[in-house]
Amino acid sequence: MKLFFNVSPCAHFGRISASVLFLVACALPAFNTHAQSFDSCITSLRKSALTQGISAQTFDQAIKGVEPDPDVLKAYDYQPEFRTPIWDYISGLVDDERVQEGRAQLSKWAQVLAQAEQEYGVDRHAIVAVWGVESNFGAIKGRRELVRSLATLVCANKRETFFRGELMATLRILQSGDIAPEYLVGSWAGAFGQTQFMPTTYQRLAVDFDGDGRRDIVNSIPDALGSTANFLKKAGWITGQPWGYEVTLPENYSGPSGRKTKQSLAQWKSLGVKRMASSGKKTTNNSLAQVVPETTQAALILPAGAKGPAFLVFKNFDAIYGYNAAESYALSIAHLSDRMKGGAGIQTPWPTDDPGTSRAERREIQRLLIVRGYDIGEADGLVGAKTRVAISAFQTSTGQPGDGRAGQKVLKALREAK
Ligand code: CA
Repeated sequence: MKLFFNVSPCAHFGRISASVLFLVACALPAFNTHAQSFDSCITSLRKSALTQGISAQTFDQAIKGVEPDPDVLKAYDYQPEFRTPIWDYISGLVDDERVQEGRAQLSKWAQVLAQAEQEYGVDRHAIVAVWGVESNFGAIKGRRELVRSLATLVCANKRETFFRGELMATLRILQSGDIAPEYLVGSWAGAFGQTQFMPTTYQRLAVDFDGDGRRDIVNSIPDALGSTANFLKKAGWITGQPWGYEVTLPENYSGPSGRKTKQSLAQWKSLGVKRMASSGKKTTNNSLAQVVPETTQAALILPAGAKGPAFLVFKNFDAIYGYNAAESYALSIAHLSDRMKGGAGIQTPWPTDDPGTSRAERREIQRLLIVRGYDIGEADGLVGAKTRVAISAFQTSTGQPGDGRAGQKVLKALREAK
């Protein structure tokens, strides 16, 4: 989750959680390059912490031996070379593996989830989908020490006010004893735990759902699930309402779209927007009001333009968007929760002749590259710089443009290559 850099003209320039790198091509704002020295910065942070109710002991213990982390600054300054197409983004996040594991978790934590549904009114599938996407159900929580990462960012004048607030929140968590220092690790930007909350989000919204007296979103799955439910409720979740659904547009549709352009279902209907049944067929009565009243406000989103899948979305889509301010993220959570319920998923093909790959297929691409002698490390299904370079080299060697994308075409070419 959960960095809303709304002060920038680009609302979100990079995915901040540990498990997923969401790259948005966007110019980074200019920063003061005259960073003060780290030591004098820490001295000033200490003064400020002491005026905010953080004890000298908490501060000194937390900051002892901490040095700036150059990798954090690299991650911050990373300028993505290209925008990840939404079909690559979603195909890696919502694949059969994650659907199956999500179902297993739904069954394993059924009692806790029933309790969370009752207390917060949030659909259990959405809770589990967030958990699955944020940390792969707790498997990938990030390994960077929060205090070190956040002190590095503050002292390098990177969004200084924002990260200073996160650092102070981290110190308060330490002082409260809710989470032991060795577990306060996460993404480079400070998102941590099963839910990948930022420290201030933790302070506002984490709950003790297993009743042991501590809010522990790192080691307690019930606390993490309850906290996610609480987040979505506070973000405006409406009990019993769907997030939205896929629709079809009339030919050459040129009407309004965009998440913020809302009008009633009746108005969308009058523009010829029709709900698509999960079987992929248009509903017989073409009614958009089967699940929600026709007066319900909805927005039309076209994540890949009018030629790709189209969705009418309601308030719960906005609640998910609140978790991580990207439509592709919210759509992934929505799609994953539908798939876990047994839905077929998105029916309209993405407008590409080279669709994205699942994590299993990405591992296969990597294994096939390794067999061909490319040094890409482990076949872990994560397409990082080394894998992209290898794919690009392989593409070039076969006379294809070397874009480095792990799509279906390169998978097919690798399978067929001698
Ligand atoms: Ca607890």
